Amino acid sequence: MATRGLLGAVSRRASLLSVTRYTSTAASRSISTLVVAEHEGGCIKASSVNAVEAAKLLGHDNSITVLLAGSGPSLERAASSASSCHPSVSKVLVAHSDRFTHSLAEPWARLIQLVQQSGGYSHVVAASGSFGKNIVPRAAALLDVSPVTDVTQISEPLQFVRPIYAGNALCTVRYTGAEPCLLTIRSTSFPVDLQETGSKSNDAPISRVDLSTFEEESIGKSRYMKLTSQDTERPDLGNARVVVTGGRGLKSAENFKMIEKLAEKLGGAVGATRAAVDAGFVPNDLQVGQTGKIVAPELYMAFGVSGAIQHIAGMRDSKVIVAVNKDSDAPIFQVADYGLVGDLFEVIPELIEKLPDKK
Ligand SMILES: Cc1cc2nc3c(=O)[nH]c(=O)nc-3n(C[C@H](O)[C@H](O)[C@H](O)COP(=O)(O)OP(=O)(O)OC[C@H]3O[C@@H](n4cnc5c(N)ncnc54)[C@H](O)[C@@H]3O)c2cc1C
Repeated sequence: MATRGLLGAVSRRASLLSVTRYTSTAASRSISTLVVAEHEGGCIKASSVNAVEAAKLLGHDNSITVLLAGSGPSLERAASSASSCHPSVSKVLVAHSDRFTHSLAEPWARLIQLVQQSGGYSHVVAASGSFGKNIVPRAAALLDVSPVTDVTQISEPLQFVRPIYAGNALCTVRYTGAEPCLLTIRSTSFPVDLQETGSKSNDAPISRVDLSTFEEESIGKSRYMKLTSQDTERPDLGNARVVVTGGRGLKSAENFKMIEKLAEKLGGAVGATRAAVDAGFVPNDLQVGQTGKIVAPELYMAFGVSGAIQHIAGMRDSKVIVAVNKDSDAPIFQVADYGLVGDLFEVIPELIEKLPDKK
């Protein structure tokens, strides 16, 4: 058994950094935040609720508006779910147009620019998933400001902590640019207090975005072609309570099915290392790490994963980490709470056999 700690000890706080020029107006005026939200199946996504939670920390008197866009009846349902998703939401804005349905970055960035300029928000916040990472920097460019990305702590309205060097150092950033301050936040760092959200009901007003001045050329050059996705009942990797990850040690896509079966038994999501993705065992939306998804589940199980620094950057905040590797010197054991030196081809089938089926 090995214990967590080495990388934790290596971690250090670094202070940084003036982003751009200082304006006193941003610090003195009241705070109002636009949360750019995603929705799916008629519901606001959990990571967007985390973005609302982060926005709440920007200030007590913060007025929070959630922006949703797209078309069809699922958008209407998502708007009402946004209106009641968190007690801190003051208003929901909905942009009805097919242009936004497939999350193409150019129209979305223009939409944020339009809504920000008409609402005069001091902050714009989105979750740091592929959607937020795609659109927020473009919206920032249109608004002529620098975004602050991957925020993990908010201590003041314009002061944030974000990881650098694959999570080995934390950097304190004071935003000194012009308004608005655009942020992407790591959703796992802003868990929602379910007791608070459950006990205080909310029914924030919903209104439409006026798109009459939306310029057609902002549709841009990107075109939606098709969506390839797998129908699965497994929880979303970014928000799952349990994540079962396989690495190159699985050796083939066929063997990787063991990981899926174990995840099913545990009601968890499947993750993978970049080596497993590159070898074609699984699609790249399952990749965990610096260039993949950042996860922080209650339980993270890693099988045949060496524990490269880029992988650990994506899972080190998991509450309990279990690692199985046949190499006792594998770096994954330095961050594991429970480590087993063994052959995954023996351990996984035994676990699958002994665990009860998920009801
Ligand atoms: C810029 C950059 C960004 C990157 N981003 C990411 C990222 O986001 N995510 C990511 O994961 N990687 C990322 N990488 C790649 C990373 O450096 C590693 O190459 C990768 O994580 C290794 O994956 P792995 O642990 O599956 O493979 P390996 O390092 O090859 O490890 C396989 C492990 O399986 C064990 N094993 C083999 N057979 C068995 C068995 N039968 N039973 C038990 N154990 C067994 C071996 O002992 C070994 O420890 C990035 C690299 C770079 C340069």
